[in-house]
Amino acid sequence: MKKAILNAWPSVVVGDRNQWQSKLTLELTGLPEEIRFRALPDNAGTNTGLKPAHAAGFAAGLSALCKDAHRYRFTLQGVDLVMAEDDIVVADGLIKLVRVHPGRHTGPGNMSESLPQIHLDIFTEYPLPEQGDKLAVDIQQTPGLPATVTFSFSRKPLRDLLGGVRIGIDPGHGGKDKGIQGPVDLTEKYVALEISRELCNLLELSGAHLVVTRTGDLDVTEKERLHILRAGNPALCVEIHVSGSDNPLAQVYKLAATQDCSDSQLLGREIALALHERMGIRPESAVLPPRPGLEVPYVRVEPLCLTYFADEANFRAPLFRKRLAQSIYNGISRYLHKTKVRQS
Ligand SMILES: [Zn+2]
Repeated sequence: MKKAILNAWPSVVVGDRNQWQSKLTLELTGLPEEIRFRALPDNAGTNTGLKPAHAAGFAAGLSALCKDAHRYRFTLQGVDLVMAEDDIVVADGLIKLVRVHPGRHTGPGNMSESLPQIHLDIFTEYPLPEQGDKLAVDIQQTPGLPATVTFSFSRKPLRDLLGGVRIGIDPGHGGKDKGIQGPVDLTEKYVALEISRELCNLLELSGAHLVVTRTGDLDVTEKERLHILRAGNPALCVEIHVSGSDNPLAQVYKLAATQDCSDSQLLGREIALALHERMGIRPESAVLPPRPGLEVPYVRVEPLCLTYFADEANFRAPLFRKRLAQSIYNGISRYLHKTKVRQS
């Protein structure tokens, strides 16, 4: 039987010994003859090789997603593509995008003797870790029907970036203060807490130290929030709310940053960009008054318009919540990467 890739999907897993990995799993009708690897030049211009249909599609930020990416290519010899040639948006904080496309036939002799091949181009946020002079990637091949090939990449670059960093998270409202209400029954206090939980989970896996103003449905005054944040001495703070409008069809998203603080502005821009790439939303920028005694980069994100019926409905899906939180996380980690590069 002709060997072909049927399907490909990304995932993030936490292993037994707290190994944290980004995985790419391929399903095939048979295992490849050989898997070759090479690193591609980083950011070879803004030409990502993406088709215009993708560039104009849901993630209008897709070409931005590939800009500044580190690129790696795995080539599977002796395999064809059954699934459509595809750009898979991963945006898991480490891998930005995976491109699955056929390569040219190679091999000696004429075309009938040559082997088909498939390229897997992996675009990453940060350089992938190496062991010695080799890329630290674990490739597992399991025969069967379907056969699977799994590529596992360590998410160590994220732990290097976020490990030990103190991060303040302030989910808005709580207790008697419900905040904005959705057309059915979701409340801002609930949504803010759920996003905060997902975000804290990712930050904890990265080894960050969290300073959180509330972890349940509690009344917390503005004074108490400020006290918790100041006592926790965070390197940056993110306040989580949702937007709303009197017009039930309006979709409003906001990202507010303290003025006159270039780091707050940068943090805000990185989170806004990540939300655009992953969720296709473009938050309006707004101004946040400084919090006295908290002189750290500080933003307030409103990544959902709760009065819009579709946003309220989407939020009920666990995957949607995860993606929202992942986008905020991606913005925070890129901000830390940029400020680290600037300092060194
Ligand atoms: Zn609010």
